[in-house]
Amino acid sequence: MRGRTKPSWGHNLKIKIKKALGMNVILCDNCKWNWRSSCHDPVRPHATWCPDFEKRGK
Ligand code: SF4
Repeated sequence: MRGRTKPSWGHNLKIKIKKALGMNVILCDNCKWNWRSSCHDPVRPHATWCPDFEKRGK
């Protein structure tokens, strides 16, 4: 998935289903770049898809 500039069709559908189920769909909560100085993406802290996402705690 890395390097894509847009979420895939299937991804958007998955997000919709998860939201409908009340699941957490926000990536930034678990992202190690979730700091003002590390991430300059305007969608932070509410990204549901992000090419730079990396799991925190690795
Ligand atoms: S890199 Fe992406 S997922 Fe991580 S904090 Fe920034 S916008 Fe959120």
